[in-house]
Amino acid sequence: MNAVLPGGAAPADTLLRVSELRKYFPVRKGLFGAASGEVHAVDGVSFWMREGETLGLVGESGCGKSTTGKAILRLLDPTSGTIEWRGRRIERLGRAAMRPYRRELQAVFQDPYSSLNPRMRAADIVAEPLRNFERVSRAQARERAAFLFEKVGLHADQLVKFPHEFSGGQRQRLGIARALAVRPRLIVCDEPVSALDVSVQAQVVNLLADLQADFGLSYLFVAHDLAVVEHISDRVAVMYLGKIVELTDRRSLFRSPQHPYTEALLSAVPVPDPKAKRKRIILTGDVPSPIAPPPGCRFHTRCPYAEERCRVEEPVMKEVRPGHFVACHLRNAPREGAMQ
Ligand code: SF4
Repeated sequence: MNAVLPGGAAPADTLLRVSELRKYFPVRKGLFGAASGEVHAVDGVSFWMREGETLGLVGESGCGKSTTGKAILRLLDPTSGTIEWRGRRIERLGRAAMRPYRRELQAVFQDPYSSLNPRMRAADIVAEPLRNFERVSRAQARERAAFLFEKVGLHADQLVKFPHEFSGGQRQRLGIARALAVRPRLIVCDEPVSALDVSVQAQVVNLLADLQADFGLSYLFVAHDLAVVEHISDRVAVMYLGKIVELTDRRSLFRSPQHPYTEALLSAVPVPDPKAKRKRIILTGDVPSPIAPPPGCRFHTRCPYAEERCRVEEPVMKEVRPGHFVACHLRNAPREGAMQ
């Protein structure tokens, strides 16, 4: 059986490489009590990303996808594992050493209402990160803000407005312009459209795709909604209870999911063709606690195909087809020489 690292061998143009990333949070009794356990929020996540690529990271709420994004941005210190950014290990860098990378790694968060300073005017919100990282005059910063406003579909006359004067979609455009101000290479988009109306979601996703082409950006696109991820991702990683259980290109994932959890998630995505039918798979049972993840396969308590082996033996990630990785006992890697 071919056991491989999740994600497989990284190509030469790798931008980001994450290996065996873990983030555990202590559980305390009372405010100052001793730690009585740990939440295994991220528990051995590995993947790589190429320059210009969009990797979708999907799973239910609490699966560790946002924590993974925050660890990569170094908003959280990983418990263990490595994060290589353009060949340089950054997971333990201090504030000063991390500064040049902060500029290249930007974020767009879910809630545009809370991620923008309500007392700043839009032009200053966009120009602020630029002035933090570059010696630019106020006029130059404003000029860049005006350029980015146009790029994200806002009007120059809105530069003097405050965040509360924008609609939800416009506020998210403002957040995107702010992230773009320092010319990042990777943007971690953490549920960037889930707080928006459905009609506005498509506009923002299309905008992100246009900006990617214009600026050569890479996105780590964190979302619980597979339908959103389908439109923008080149590859998709599916997370369950702190681990990646399936990783492949978008087409393979949506046409031929290999992990029972992915199958269940996909069965809930509406099909555009009214004649086409998709059998809905309803998962029973609660998501187990990340404080005490179940032994064996973490999905076995909800998996309709679980067998005895699943309860005791953790499945390893296997490459079941070229570029298609899955961690499930039911899926086997093809025999040597059978994958060409
Ligand atoms: Fe289901 Fe077993 Fe596969 Fe886990 S290893 S997904 S429990 S069949």
